Amino acid sequence: MDALKEQIIAGYEDVRQRIAWAAGRADRDPDEVTVVAVTKTWPAEVVIAAYEVGLRHFGENRAGELEEKRAAVEAVLGPESGIVWHLIGPLQSRKTQMAADAAGTFHALDRLKIARRLSRHLEGTGRTLPVLLQVNISGEDSKHGFDATRWEDDKEQRVALKDVARKIAGKPGLSLQGLMTMAPWQVEKEVVAAVFRRTHALSVWLDDVVPEARWDTLSMGMSDDFELAVEYGATYVRIGRAIFGERR
Ligand SMILES: *Cc1c(COP(=O)(O)O)cnc(C)c1O
Repeated sequence: MDALKEQIIAGYEDVRQRIAWAAGRADRDPDEVTVVAVTKTWPAEVVIAAYEVGLRHFGENRAGELEEKRAAVEAVLGPESGIVWHLIGPLQSRKTQMAADAAGTFHALDRLKIARRLSRHLEGTGRTLPVLLQVNISGEDSKHGFDATRWEDDKEQRVALKDVARKIAGKPGLSLQGLMTMAPWQVEKEVVAAVFRRTHALSVWLDDVVPEARWDTLSMGMSDDFELAVEYGATYVRIGRAIFGERR
């Protein structure tokens, strides 16, 4: 077997073991957690090798790269491979048609304008795109997402989040499933834990006030912090380096 496949098998095994331990600490069933293997910058052959190892969920942070890689992978595996393509990065207006056509689920919905455009592309196609609202909990400038930095204490912020969730939940062609967040980098564990705990609490609150959406999906946790995310209720973890090694 080639070195690439060995790396993926070992990386994926290790990730699954650590998810099982983290789920155990939180009294959760590890089967509630889906690993989205983040293949950005890696070629289609890497996706195919990971597919052969058993992975079915793949994440890309750019619509263009997702579309190209999906086409290259389907040229080999066919369109019925069972792969779900997750667009995990922010989307620009001019790429919404591409995302509506090629993404199986979208994690980084961070503007109403993008929701409107996606809905317009999907309306009448018979397809529904599952979407997650990206929320900015930590307040780090580099983080995209709807402002939720003070949602517990700031009524205006809560009302804004509720309004946007309600509007998105009502859009034809979109299925609002939950929240996505990113923790800040290189901060103490307690700070990361607080971001995940507060995101989970926000989703519980939204479930109460916007019952027309599902709120059963939480996309949080990457290679450096996925165990903590699982302890706080993540259902998708988005993992690149811990499976594939450092990006080239
Ligand atoms: C790249 C990326 C990941 C995966 O990062 P790793 O540190 O390689 O696990 C997860 N989420 C998003 C939005 C990304 O862009």
